[in-house]
Amino acid sequence: MKNLILLGGPGVGKGTQAKMLAEKYSIPQISTGDILRAEIKSDSELGKQAAGYMKRGDLVPDDLILAMIEKRLQEDDTANGFILDGFPRTIPQAEGLDSILARLERRLDGVVDIEVPYEKLVQRITSRWGCSECGADFNSLSSPPQVVETCDHCGGRLQQRPDDKEETVRQRLLVYREKTAPLIDYYKRKSLLKIVDGDKPVESVFAAVCNTLI
Ligand code: AMP
Repeated sequence: MKNLILLGGPGVGKGTQAKMLAEKYSIPQISTGDILRAEIKSDSELGKQAAGYMKRGDLVPDDLILAMIEKRLQEDDTANGFILDGFPRTIPQAEGLDSILARLERRLDGVVDIEVPYEKLVQRITSRWGCSECGADFNSLSSPPQVVETCDHCGGRLQQRPDDKEETVRQRLLVYREKTAPLIDYYKRKSLLKIVDGDKPVESVFAAVCNTLI
């Protein structure tokens, strides 16, 4: 059973590593950012409530996020484990997750914190691109597509996230430092924390992440 959290600031590569782990262990990647973007796309009530916060680079309120996660963790595909990517992001969310898992009679197996020097994150985020069709990730600096703005895998159009603009990224980094970084201590105290150097090629980071899970 692998019930995992990937922790780390915006742009450290959580999403990329979560997708690789999901494939390796055949368990779902649960990205609250992806769920919220899908809600916005479908113009749902939750999407409408979340959109303004996301556009500014602020956090969506804890109660909305916790309700979303509680529902998602009750789906059958999480029975053999899950990878939480981008959640929890505040101490109240971490405490809420503890209560949800207790109600579901489950527990966390590990929390992997991926660390990249702060100064490198703005550049990493503002150069990232995602496929609008299949969701594959590219980075115009470290892993560019073969044809500009075109997915190598499915030929779909690549696009940048609206909140990956530099000023929004700076706000997201501030929010990370203030609200999310305290989770490192929270999970250290529970003896669940593993730290991985994210300032390396994707495959080396993946090997290091997998090593912490043995
Ligand atoms: P991400 O894709 O994880 O970078 O998330 C994009 C945006 O979605 C964040 O900047 C927040 O506005 C919102 N968001 C995602 N996950 C959470 C969360 N756990 N708590 C609050 N807001 C979130």
